[in-house]
Amino acid sequence: MSFTLHGLAVSSGIAIGRAHLVSHATLEVAHYRIKDKSIPAEVERFESALATVRAELDTLRGEAAGIGMPSEMVTFVDIHAMLLADPLLSEMPKDLIRERGCNAEWALVQQMEQLVAQFNEIEDSYLRERKHDVVQVVERVLKALMGKPRKVAKRGRDDDLIIVAHDLSPADTIQFKNLRIGGFVTDLGGATSHTAIVARSLAIPAVVGLHHARPLVREDDLLIVDGARGVLIVDPDARVLEEYRLKKTALELERAKLKRLKTARAATLDGVDIALYANIELPQDIGQVREAGADGIGLFRTEFLFMNRGDLPSENEQYEAYKAVAKAMDGKPVTVRTLDLGADKNTQALAGTARQAPNPVLGLRAIRYCLAEPQIFLTQLRAILRAAHYGNIRILIPMLANAAEIEQTLAMIEQAKAQLRGTRHKFSENVKVGGMIEIPAAALALGPFVKRLQFLSLGTNDLIQYTLAIDRTDGAVAHLYDPLHPAVLRLIAQTIAASARMEVPVSVCGEMAGDPALTRLLIGMGLRQLSMHPSLVLEVKQQVVTADAAQLTAKVGRLLRLEEPEKIREQVERLND
Ligand code: PEP
Ligand code: MG
Repeated sequence: MSFTLHGLAVSSGIAIGRAHLVSHATLEVAHYRIKDKSIPAEVERFESALATVRAELDTLRGEAAGIGMPSEMVTFVDIHAMLLADPLLSEMPKDLIRERGCNAEWALVQQMEQLVAQFNEIEDSYLRERKHDVVQVVERVLKALMGKPRKVAKRGRDDDLIIVAHDLSPADTIQFKNLRIGGFVTDLGGATSHTAIVARSLAIPAVVGLHHARPLVREDDLLIVDGARGVLIVDPDARVLEEYRLKKTALELERAKLKRLKTARAATLDGVDIALYANIELPQDIGQVREAGADGIGLFRTEFLFMNRGDLPSENEQYEAYKAVAKAMDGKPVTVRTLDLGADKNTQALAGTARQAPNPVLGLRAIRYCLAEPQIFLTQLRAILRAAHYGNIRILIPMLANAAEIEQTLAMIEQAKAQLRGTRHKFSENVKVGGMIEIPAAALALGPFVKRLQFLSLGTNDLIQYTLAIDRTDGAVAHLYDPLHPAVLRLIAQTIAASARMEVPVSVCGEMAGDPALTRLLIGMGLRQLSMHPSLVLEVKQQVVTADAAQLTAKVGRLLRLEEPEKIREQVERLND
């Protein structure tokens, strides 16, 4: 039976294909049949996940003891190690895989459910509560299993694979970069959650915040994802299917036409040059950046190098990654943002050191975390400074709020240089340092930023989140997340104007920069540098080459005086007429 679900449009385009149900490390996992000949490999996959978790727990235990954590913490790790070693969790699932020919995740969760049921029968409340430990251990093993995704069956060219999940972390999503995926839908999530951002960077249609897709859709159902309208159609009838096939072809033709703009100069009709940079998560994204003809990298979200692994990337590993990007961009600017972990971006490797904040979005994230963990920060800074020898690298610092943080950061960069002097490593002494303006306090008290930093980048995703007190990952408040709120527009406009007065270059690297409907608004505010997903560069360029900067300045000046959201929206639409 055909039905339609509505969610938030986060990445445009149309995908038509078969559902593939996945889970992040929740306990809701897909069920696959494993062919007889692949059963030994499946058992091996399970065993290797157990080994990974065993090693993780060993490291955690060592760290917990080494940094003098309370003894309950060490006991807690011990309980987990004990549960992991119990044949009920480590052996029984293997029997299930062999007997029923099912995938490892499924076998493990079946076994866990039985165990939890047994714990529920226990009278002693302390022991009964240990069921949560069972669940946590199982989650760890599931994460390790997901860390090495099973090969997804190859399908025909027109038969896309559509990922259906309740929720996915950015770490889960980034793994899809290695798979050929046609579309992407989740029940939870906001439009600027990092999961949505990664989906966009995959350049595939995606809809989040669908609420009921995961329970209602079955494996292999035929689906249509309309990423522009935020719609998921399950089991479409022949007429709807045909209509969407035509739409999809038309969209592909339009995209092909846009390619002609690749080498065109990004300048307005009245000759104002606009730099169009790309946002990347991993060095492998460079191919897409070059295909789009971007002027450089405006944001390299380096935290993705730290995800989906049990250890931290070494200085050399990071150096190689940054150097590869710098060299590939061949003299064009490459803005390497230092580690922005925390909030929705987490990594197993830091589980022992990253504190579980009561409110992670307001907690020890990004630069706050780096200043609290100087060794991790210095390692990254040395890697960036060394890579800067091979290209035009700039350092960008996330989440700065005050002058003291700027001073401490600059001192750390000097310390990293001092550590490199006298070693055999070549590095650059003159790397520009910039700051992200993504906390309202920074936008409102910009003095120390324009005085001490060489460039600024507006992180509108967080700036909107913090200005409007809307969690960007929470679908329940997603309708209140509003880039056109007058308070947000004023903060952006003030920052652009103050930077221009002080002759400090400023860009926008949040999602607003990649929304072609907002390009003219931003140009009218005086913005001359935008950074977005490579897949959006040409669409934005199309807006640039048909805009008149002088006219826009006058119109936007008037628009910024408006208070009523409806009027603002109407005027923004007029800019695009
Ligand atoms: C932002 O906050 O706008 C930004 C670009 O950084 P991130 O999305 O990685 O938080
Ligand atoms: Mg941010």
